[in-house]
Amino acid sequence: MENKPLRHVLGISGGKDSAALAIYLKKTHPELDIEYYFCDTGKELDETYNLISKLENYLGKKITHVNAITDSPEDSFDHFVQAYGGYLPSSSARWCTKKLKLEPFEAFIGDDPVVSYVGIRGDEDREGYISHKPNVQSVFPFRRNIWSEDVVQKVLNASALPRLIKAYEGLVQTDKHARLLQLAQTPISRSFPQTQKLNALLDADTVLFNKAVFTMLRDTTYPLALAEDFALLNNDEVLVRDDIFRILRESGVGVPAYYEKIVFEVDGEQGEYARSRSGCYFCFFQQKIEWVWLYEQHNELFLKAMDYERDGYTWMEESLSDLIKPDRVRQIKLDALAKQKNKKTPESIYLLDILDDEEEVGCASCFI
Ligand code: SF4
Repeated sequence: MENKPLRHVLGISGGKDSAALAIYLKKTHPELDIEYYFCDTGKELDETYNLISKLENYLGKKITHVNAITDSPEDSFDHFVQAYGGYLPSSSARWCTKKLKLEPFEAFIGDDPVVSYVGIRGDEDREGYISHKPNVQSVFPFRRNIWSEDVVQKVLNASALPRLIKAYEGLVQTDKHARLLQLAQTPISRSFPQTQKLNALLDADTVLFNKAVFTMLRDTTYPLALAEDFALLNNDEVLVRDDIFRILRESGVGVPAYYEKIVFEVDGEQGEYARSRSGCYFCFFQQKIEWVWLYEQHNELFLKAMDYERDGYTWMEESLSDLIKPDRVRQIKLDALAKQKNKKTPESIYLLDILDDEEEVGCASCFI
């Protein structure tokens, strides 16, 4: 790995967060030579392909389409459905993410040392479903803690304490940083667990913590050990959902059209629906009201999704032919309306405030 140059990659999912991250990094760190890629299942909405082409214009670079299968006339997804005898993926059997997202990504990077930028936001509490290949290091620029969980454990665990102290000693030169050194020296314990120490060090000085981590990575096989310096060490911004929408709008790239809410009527009342995430149009992670949105707003795609159920496998516990029975559609809309009445945020043109309890469900590869 030492002889290979370090690559910087950013996966575009078609969702808002990865798109905003690409824009943000181009603006704040133009010196990073980032390769953009998109793992194409062939089953995305047109809005996703539109977003990708607008992003290419903004970035001035091609976004590489990475396909799981290149030697078949069928889309990658269809190829694997046939290979699995019509067995559809589900939240408990997610062969699609593995076959269509993770494995193609791993083939794309090969054994090269790679820094992978991931758009998990500062207001989310998750790591995402990301590659754990040793030659890939994930970095999270929207969070105050840009480091992955494994890196944090490596630098804050008890056996690393002498090296952490040494790293801080090399960086902390003034008296005002005495408190910081004292914090670094405090071992983690039951009364001072790792998360508390991490937050205390970040509160005290985020940039210094980043520099201490970077120094400690030098003696490891992490890809960033190969870098002389790293642009994101000075990053102490935290970006949340509102920032993401702002970045997309201000750049001119805009927000993917499927987020925009549309009015529906049920029993003389008006509600709103939209789609809350990128990914395949038939994704089993979508909520019932999103299936109704697909049925009414992209009927041809809904019918295609139904066609996949012809072998008896279904996308969820309820078949799509049952879901579109008029009484069932009415009930789903009434349920959605009741939820919206509880959580309504009238100034927003997006429905994410209503759908947000589902937003973190799923995988980083498909939805960020
Ligand atoms: S978007 Fe959904 S269906 Fe498509 S690959 Fe991802 S998890 Fe699977």
